[in-house]
Amino acid sequence: KSGFVSIIGRPNVGKSTFINRVIGQKIAIMSDKPQTTRNKIQGVYTTNQSQTIFIDTPGIHKPKHKLGDFMMKVAQNTLKEVDLVLFMINAEEGYGRGDEFIIERLKQTNTPVFLIINKIDQIHPDELLPLIEQYKKLYPFKEIVPISALQGNNIDTLLQQIEDLL
Ligand code: GDP
Ligand code: MG
Repeated sequence: KSGFVSIIGRPNVGKSTFINRVIGQKIAIMSDKPQTTRNKIQGVYTTNQSQTIFIDTPGIHKPKHKLGDFMMKVAQNTLKEVDLVLFMINAEEGYGRGDEFIIERLKQTNTPVFLIINKIDQIHPDELLPLIEQYKKLYPFKEIVPISALQGNNIDTLLQQIEDLL
């Protein structure tokens, strides 16, 4: 089995942290500043059963200028070409306008989407279920997976679910 997985989400939700944890080396740039990831950076995660090629996809956001517009198109095309999209959100922040924009883009593709709720180390466990219920109403996510990319919680489960889908 093998496949391409694109990771999207608002700046600072933890996309690079996740990729770095899974691939095990610092390939994507991590920073507190938004939009430090300017290229699609690919990392390959290999097990006995599968090979997953991760793409850190910048540019899915409301374009503010011409370059942003171009990056948006690149990102939109990427979404159509991959086998799976991981749409990552920050558990602390909840639903925002940036998410609304991304979900509209997701509705224009047939690619399966997992909702990844990151930074669960930052919230009370009681806050998780309402968040899941809220996002369920917005899009028919194939899976909803709470993780902490920083602390490593539930990453193995997610990788297994990705492998099962490929
Ligand atoms: P990106 O813009 O989506 O690529 O986000 P980054 O991976 O650069 O992460 C942005 C910030 O969030 C960094 O300071 C990370 O250390 C932090 N971060 C990422 N994942 C987690 C997490 O699971 N828990 C917490 N508490 N912080 C995280
Ligand atoms: Mg990044």
